[in-house]
Amino acid sequence: MEGIRGIGSAAGGRGGDPQPVGSEVVVSVSHCGLCHSDLTLWKGIFDMGDRQVSIDSIGMKHPLTLGHEILGTVTAAGPEVTDVKVGDVRLVYPWLGCGECESCRSGRENLCMQGRPLGMRRPGGFGSHVVVPHSRYLIDAGDLDPALAATYACSGLTAYSAIKKAMPVRPDEAIVVVGAGGLGLSGIVILKALGHQNIVVVDVSEEKLKIATDAGAHKTVLSIGDDVTKKIVDAVGRPVGTIIDFVNNSQTAAFSFPALARGGRIIMVGMFGGQLTIPTMRMAQGASALSAASPARCRNCVTWWSLAKSGKLDAIPYEAVPKSSINDAMTRLSKGAVKGRIVLQEEPA
Ligand SMILES: [Zn+2]
Ligand SMILES: [Zn+2]
Repeated sequence: MEGIRGIGSAAGGRGGDPQPVGSEVVVSVSHCGLCHSDLTLWKGIFDMGDRQVSIDSIGMKHPLTLGHEILGTVTAAGPEVTDVKVGDVRLVYPWLGCGECESCRSGRENLCMQGRPLGMRRPGGFGSHVVVPHSRYLIDAGDLDPALAATYACSGLTAYSAIKKAMPVRPDEAIVVVGAGGLGLSGIVILKALGHQNIVVVDVSEEKLKIATDAGAHKTVLSIGDDVTKKIVDAVGRPVGTIIDFVNNSQTAAFSFPALARGGRIIMVGMFGGQLTIPTMRMAQGASALSAASPARCRNCVTWWSLAKSGKLDAIPYEAVPKSSINDAMTRLSKGAVKGRIVLQEEPA
């Protein structure tokens, strides 16, 4: 893999900071979380299960300015902007749609087929600044720790979206959370804040399961060996009603599906790639359901942000590192050696 290119200004360079027009807002990035999607885009290949798809074939190409968990300070605003001003600290909602299609018009920009998310199809938060097309994508994070708040733009919002999809589940009924990385830990603290009392976490790492327990998991399952399905069912005490798969690769899907109770469902969230072969008879007999959750639509932000600011949400473990150590951070993430989330921080001038 090549190193990250394009660190510096997302648009314009320090010698010529971007000038906003119309409704645009320029944000100087102070914090940007590191997501597994950044790793996928860095490698440039999507694992679609039966084939590998390069980012070039979907109209993206390196160099990209990655980073979509962005928090920073407004440094300039176009003449049409009235609700934020220079100096305001804002979190950036990165899942920008085209604004024209049916999904966008119904407030589901994250489902837009022509979407241009920041840090993917537009320059993102690994640069010094981002240009945000409209102030409606800016969120006041209040008194929240800025590094932690940055992670709420993707991992927090995505985990919340998945849990909203899984609900209602009785507080004492088991919810199995697969994966204890940044997303899974976000899921655990959100479930805990919502009063859930039976969280069973599955991961390949003993160390990450310990972190999951510290975060609020009630039981854990080490997903190594051939009997992971049985270990999950044993931990729950019966076949499982609700599984949220924050990894969602061939292995996790393969051990999760047979663990389902009749009428059970899996919410597929992670984008680690792979595929699942399902006996159609088993699906019909089991009245099973497979569903998916992508980063939440913006209108979910209201309930999400009221929860985030309520003080009920515990912090997930995170490590703040200077932006200059991005390559080391990406390498550690690719090796699975990150506890919680890495958040890149602006270095003092
Ligand atoms: Zn992400
Ligand atoms: Zn659209």
